[in-house]
Amino acid sequence: MTYDWQAGLVFLAVLIALTKIIKFFVFKVPALEQERLKNMEVWKEKRKLDKYKKVMQQTRSAGMYTNLVFILLVCPFFINLAPQPIWKIFLDLFIILMVYDFVYYLTHRFVFHGQGFFRKIHAVHHQARDVTFIDAHYVHPLETFVGVFLFVSTIPMLTLVLGPFHAVTVALAFLVFTQLNIINHCKVELPFFPFKTVSWISARHNAHHENMHKGNYATITLLYDKVFGTFC
Ligand SMILES: [Zn+2]
Ligand SMILES: [Zn+2]
Repeated sequence: MTYDWQAGLVFLAVLIALTKIIKFFVFKVPALEQERLKNMEVWKEKRKLDKYKKVMQQTRSAGMYTNLVFILLVCPFFINLAPQPIWKIFLDLFIILMVYDFVYYLTHRFVFHGQGFFRKIHAVHHQARDVTFIDAHYVHPLETFVGVFLFVSTIPMLTLVLGPFHAVTVALAFLVFTQLNIINHCKVELPFFPFKTVSWISARHNAHHENMHKGNYATITLLYDKVFGTFC
């Protein structure tokens, strides 16, 4: 096991570049820019509330430090730049996301929505009804830590079976993980092609916020909710 700092740098560069490029182009689409402005209106109002300010600050720190430890101290041991066919990159990406989503599904359903301490922690996030962009950040810092930890620990765990991943694979997995967690909280009401899917994702997560007991516990896809009968 070696610390591949070059792979670490490529991982970070690809992640930052793709995040910026996607943000730049997505909001050139008038329909999406219109939805962004609607979400930002709510952001402006809610951010004035003390409870939002406090929780958002704490959750930002929790997410940042957990991510930094992973990016600087863990990730470079489990990634490399060895040439790989494109299909292998996408297959590994699919495996990482589906394994993480299964672990998250179980944690969300039985720990966050269980009877113990974590139910109270998760209840902070569930105060948000009719969710918009800002609510993706209205999460108790301990829940943020657990969520990010589950995702980042999936990668070293899987390398025990699959071997090291390509830096680009892990950057793509990170991108999907972080962006889907934001997209599912955005209020998007565009019931026509090609935005219908985004509207559907946001409506399904909103249904989870409206009723804590019904379902939609997974975060990447709702496949596990369909399989285990908790889709709503
Ligand atoms: Zn949520
Ligand atoms: Zn929940």
